[in-house]
Amino acid sequence: MLSKILSGGLAGIEAYPIDVEADVTYSQLPSFNIIGLPDVAIKESRARIRSAIKNSDYPFPSDKITVNLSPAGIKKEGSGFDLPIAVGILVATGIIPQIDLGDKLFCGELSLNGKLKPFHGALPLAISIKDSFKTFILPKANVHELSRLNNGIQVIGAESLKDVVNHLTGAVKISPEEFRAEEPKINSDMPDFEDVKGQEYVKRGLEVAASGNHNVLLIGPPGSGKSMLAKRFPYILPDMTEEEMLETTKVYSVAGKFAGSDFICERPFRSPHHTISYAAIAGGGTYPNPGEISLAHNGVLFMDEFPEFRRDVIETLRQPIEAGEITVARVEQTVKYPARFIFISAMNPCPCGNFTDPRKECRCTPYQIQRYLSKISGPILDRIDIHLEVARIDYQKLSAKRKGEKTEAVKSRVIKTIKIQTERFSGKKPHLAYNAYMNGKEIEKYCTLSTEAEEILKTAIIELGVSARAYDKILKLARTIADMDESPGIEAEHISEAIGYRSLDRGIWC
Ligand SMILES: [Zn+2]
Repeated sequence: MLSKILSGGLAGIEAYPIDVEADVTYSQLPSFNIIGLPDVAIKESRARIRSAIKNSDYPFPSDKITVNLSPAGIKKEGSGFDLPIAVGILVATGIIPQIDLGDKLFCGELSLNGKLKPFHGALPLAISIKDSFKTFILPKANVHELSRLNNGIQVIGAESLKDVVNHLTGAVKISPEEFRAEEPKINSDMPDFEDVKGQEYVKRGLEVAASGNHNVLLIGPPGSGKSMLAKRFPYILPDMTEEEMLETTKVYSVAGKFAGSDFICERPFRSPHHTISYAAIAGGGTYPNPGEISLAHNGVLFMDEFPEFRRDVIETLRQPIEAGEITVARVEQTVKYPARFIFISAMNPCPCGNFTDPRKECRCTPYQIQRYLSKISGPILDRIDIHLEVARIDYQKLSAKRKGEKTEAVKSRVIKTIKIQTERFSGKKPHLAYNAYMNGKEIEKYCTLSTEAEEILKTAIIELGVSARAYDKILKLARTIADMDESPGIEAEHISEAIGYRSLDRGIWC
């Protein structure tokens, strides 16, 4: 007998419907084949499905079983097909009646004893192919991913294959999940900028970065507080929009990293260690999985000890910083994951770290320093607008009782400056409506310099040796600083401050 069950597969963070057809015919030679471009994990599922059905006290047919995953042209990946295949076989053998199955979507991994285990990507499935079904039957452990989804889908969370069978035969019905829409939970003990004493110049630079979506390089000796500053950065950014929450949560769902009970509603802060591999940062691997750069989507990617990262890892950043996504090449197909983030990198000024420290001696030779700096390739440096020197603060400032400005105050200014840009670039996609994303034409149109400002920029180019490629960056930064000042034109003080954030161009090191 033939059965047809609806399931779904993933392409990046989107999903598409897949029909699981099972055909069980009498044969003296029992066999169990899965066709329709399954990957290794799906082929291995035959053993799991056989054990799961037997251990759930149902007979496993000793006939010829053919399972077809269609459309046949697309490579199918992952372990979510265990449940639909098992259900298909039980329908084909008459244990489950073939009625009312057309409007149900099945996904889930089976363990040998018949229990259901969570699979990756429940949320994208529930969103992308919502028009193909009415009820989503999936492992109980995945149910929380759908808690904020309000698109009329009925969600049935099951613990085991037996639960699913009992539900479908009507023996023991599982009641649909009832979700209560709650306000997003915002972390109340977030790290606050007021804890960072001194460092006013760096904090100002980070505010400029947040205001115009500029990428940052922090340069300073060990212990100067680079990580402490970076960790506080996501909280001066505006709250995530509903759309951003949904997108980022989809990434976490596909990565199988959705541990919380609610959507991701705070901007992610990812800080991978410098020993991270290419696959872990970019995504991919045996199972298609988003990497660190995608987990930072709509948030912040922080790379401390930046020159220590592997060269191929550093180079990976080019595409996402430019295009907001990453293409991962895989066997027989490529996958795209979103990866739009503000990039903050940090490094010591030299291999020993003491070069800019007035109280310590640097023993590095100019050659060693040059080599250290050259590890960050030109193309990546080209995509970083702000260079901030972080000095070690002296003891007096550290012990001072006076606290810094609160994060909330900085954030409200950032939101105001972003609003100016939203109005300026109205009609553009929200993530492009930032000064950092201006193209040549827009720079010409929106970055009008006062005569005095123009003089300063000219002098900087000639005397400080500001490179041509840094020229556009200075103008974009100056535009953001002028916006923070609510000034329509770019004045002398705006351009001077912008030049100050380009220390690597000024060649102060070598
Ligand atoms: Zn040194």
